Amino acid sequence: MAELVIKDLHVDVDTESGPKEILKGVDLTVGDGQVHAIMGPNGSGKSTLAYAVAGHPKYTITRGSVSLDGVDITALPVDERARAGLFLGMQYPVEVPGVSMANFLRTAKTALSGEAPRVRTWPEQVNEALTAMDLSSDFAERSVNEGFSGGEKKRGEIAQLELLDPRTAILDEIDSGLDIDALKVVSAGIVDYSRKPGKSVLLITHYTRILRYVHPDRVHVFVDGRVKITGGAELADNLEERGYEQYVK
Ligand code: ADP
Ligand code: MG
Ligand code: MG
Repeated sequence: MAELVIKDLHVDVDTESGPKEILKGVDLTVGDGQVHAIMGPNGSGKSTLAYAVAGHPKYTITRGSVSLDGVDITALPVDERARAGLFLGMQYPVEVPGVSMANFLRTAKTALSGEAPRVRTWPEQVNEALTAMDLSSDFAERSVNEGFSGGEKKRGEIAQLELLDPRTAILDEIDSGLDIDALKVVSAGIVDYSRKPGKSVLLITHYTRILRYVHPDRVHVFVDGRVKITGGAELADNLEERGYEQYVK
């Protein structure tokens, strides 16, 4: 099971001049087995939602709740949210100099599952996940995201998704900076993941392009820290034609 329930979520971000409210009451439920897309203009709070749900310390939940399969994770630290089954693919994946992908993945997998991955099968699994994302096996020995191109970082996030096998994946602009071939590869990875039993996906994007490959069950338009309107895939087509302007005021 992987039902993500966000209720009346209000979030402040820490700024130099004090806390600023960015999310102003977000209600959203991604059912088990579903893919939902969040679309919205720049600065509407999409990444803030992703970070707040994942438990980033810079973002303070002042009201509302987040639960995963009925377990309230609102107050949990970031590592416990991950253990509860939450994965965040970041808009700007972080570089970790000196830590190889292989070590990072092994450590993360161990932390998540409570035991080290099997020595016999794990390297092959890593290799397969990288290959599926069109990344050569020497990426396993490179420092996490260091010197990766934008597209390589995003493909690396999906390789992580495949290997860490969380219950719920929030993917923040996973499609930005991808050329058409990489978009297809990344989309195929997301579709494969979403079709496994007991998964759910929240796909944050500016563009409808990725939704031609990853078909969402629901599309939410996010404006000024709230879900402004929710619909089916046809809502994305409408946005393609008419833009966000119609929803902004
Ligand atoms: P989106 O992902 O939809 O483009 P963000 O969640 O990144 O939007 O940002 C929403 C709003 O919050 C923007 O106005 C942005 O400037 C502001 N914001 C986000 N993080 C910070 C921060 N750390 N300090 C100040 N303002 C921030
Ligand atoms: Mg943005
Ligand atoms: Mg963003």
